[in-house]
This record gives sequence, structure tokens and C-alpha cells, in this order.
Amino acid sequence: MTFTIAEYFCENMNSTVRSRAEKVSNCLVCNSIGSVIYSQVKDRNSKSESSWDIEKCSNKNCNTLWINRRPIPTDLAAIYQGYYTQDPQTIPFVTVLPKKLSQYFCAGYLSAKYDFEKDSVGFLQNFLGQLSSIRINWKARVDSAEMMYLKPQRGCRLLDVGCGNGRLMKHLVKRGWSAVGCDPDIHALELAKQAGLDVLQGNMESINFPDSEFHAITMSHVIEHLYNPKKTLTECARVMRADGIISITTPNSQSLGRWLFGASWFPLDPPRHFFILNRKSAFRILSEVGFREITIFTNTHEAHHYFRRGIMDKLNKPYHPVHTIFGRVCQLIEWAMIILGIEIGEELVILARK
Ligand SMILES: [Zn+2]
Repeated sequence: MTFTIAEYFCENMNSTVRSRAEKVSNCLVCNSIGSVIYSQVKDRNSKSESSWDIEKCSNKNCNTLWINRRPIPTDLAAIYQGYYTQDPQTIPFVTVLPKKLSQYFCAGYLSAKYDFEKDSVGFLQNFLGQLSSIRINWKARVDSAEMMYLKPQRGCRLLDVGCGNGRLMKHLVKRGWSAVGCDPDIHALELAKQAGLDVLQGNMESINFPDSEFHAITMSHVIEHLYNPKKTLTECARVMRADGIISITTPNSQSLGRWLFGASWFPLDPPRHFFILNRKSAFRILSEVGFREITIFTNTHEAHHYFRRGIMDKLNKPYHPVHTIFGRVCQLIEWAMIILGIEIGEELVILARK
């Protein structure tokens, strides 16, 4: 095997990260022991050859998955180098028109569903917005990645934990929220600042927000990256108002994708994802730190992408357009199963009050 110079240093860096990684023997949710279900899972987000073992909790009422050796905090900068949260979000010219059209339909959808800015939306736009919500992936993306299942609110305070480059915050601000974000990644935050967003560097514990400050807290694909999720959730409960809501999205370990692809399931994402929840373990971790009125369901957001990556990895093949078709077909099947009440979506959505 030959390496470029960049790959050589990447490989050396990752083997150092692997050798320094700390052992995780017990489940982060219920403290039970586990056993290895996937061994030697590759880091698919880098060209590194380093591999990691994934364990499954032995408690049948939990079944959380976790990486049994995780990078130490001082190695986080190395494992997040080039991660998608550091993307500058520039829009290629060829996608400007589809983006404008999507915004047009989205405004119609928000007006029809939530009466948001109804006065500035005409009858046709309102109608087309409702019509476009029939598109499975479009609706999942708007509800989840742009709104976190929160109603648009003018002037209410929102905290986006793990805001990264501010992608979600931009959408929430457009929907009226007065949003502040926090993230330990200085490179990602630079991009959020350039977009004019109100962001702070650090994690929940280090920033120490005032008590009962926020009407809403969002954590979009963040909880699975945390060393101590219970501690962070406890801090979220403290800074949330009594009538507030927390909205969390994270991969679902009991999804169709994991069942089909096992160790090739894309959201395992070692060594960045420290653990993967499911409906039962998500309920347990939220209720243990004092949240109530917990609602948990699954959706197909990004499912086509996970299925496409899964089949490519499973077959060890480079990309071919047929993989995209496969991904879309699987997403449709998953969507139909959710409609039938079988909650095997790739993404877990958790809404709770305190
Ligand atoms: Zn457990």
C-alpha cells in the first residue's frame, strides 16, 4: 500500500489516537456490562486504517451500543479534522435555483402547518407548500434538520447545544427564535460567527448559562458525541424554563439500516460516535435526569444516504448511481413501515419537558 504525505501523517495521527484511547467497560445509560458485536469497524470519515470495536449492552431493556475504547479529550481536534460540521456551507451556482424553490415551498409549508408568516404567503404558495410535504425526504428534512420539530416562535430564547458551523441555528433564527449556540470546536464556530450568529465556545458545563434561561434547547446529532451525556442533560434541564422543551435527534440503533448492514451501518461512525441510543434507552436516560412528558419516535431523515453508504461499504464497491436508487427504495420501505407503526427509522427524535 502506498500513502501520500498527507495520508501518511493522517495514519500516524490516528494510530496514536487509537493507542491513547480510554477503555469504556460499562453502558453510559444503565451501567451494565456489554459484549462486542462488531469488531474492527473502520473510521470511514478518514483514510485511516484504524479500527474500533462496538459493544452492545447486556441489559435487554437497554441494548445501547458503544465504542469500547474512545479517544481522550485532547485528541478530539484530530478526530474532527475535516468533519462535516466544519464545512463552510457555500452553495454551488448550479444549486441556487433548487434552493430558492425549496425555500418557496418551505415558506408555504410553514404557513399552512403553523400559520407562520401567513400574511406574506399567498394561496398558491400555501397550497404548493402543503403539496410538497408529501415528498417523504423533503418533509423529514424540514421538520427535523431545519425545525427540530419545534413550532416557529417569535422572540423566544433557544439554545443550540453543539451548534457547529451554525447550519441549524440559521434555520431556527429564520423561524423567529432568538438563538444562541455553543460548541467546543473553534474552527466550526468561526463559520457560525461569519454568518452573524450568536455563539460561544465551550460545552454546557464550562459555559455555565443562567438558570431557567431558555424556552427551548436543541441537540441535533450531538448527544452521541458526548463523554458524559447524563451530566450534559442535567445541565440542559437546569438552564431550561419550567415551560420549556428539549428536542434531540440522534441515530437509532434499532433501525432498518443497522439490521441490514450491521458493522457497515454508516452512523456507527467510530471513533466520533461514543454510543448509539434506541427508543428504550433514550427514554431511560432522559427520565433518569428528571425530564418528563417524553415523546420518542423515528423518521427517515438522511436514511437514503445511510443506505447508500451502507451498501457501498458492505460490498466494498466505489460509488455507482444504482446505490442511490437502492438508498431511495430502502428509504421508501422504511417510511412505509413507520406509517404502519413499526418504529425502525434511522433517526430517533426525542422531545421532553422538565
Ligand atoms: Zn445499558
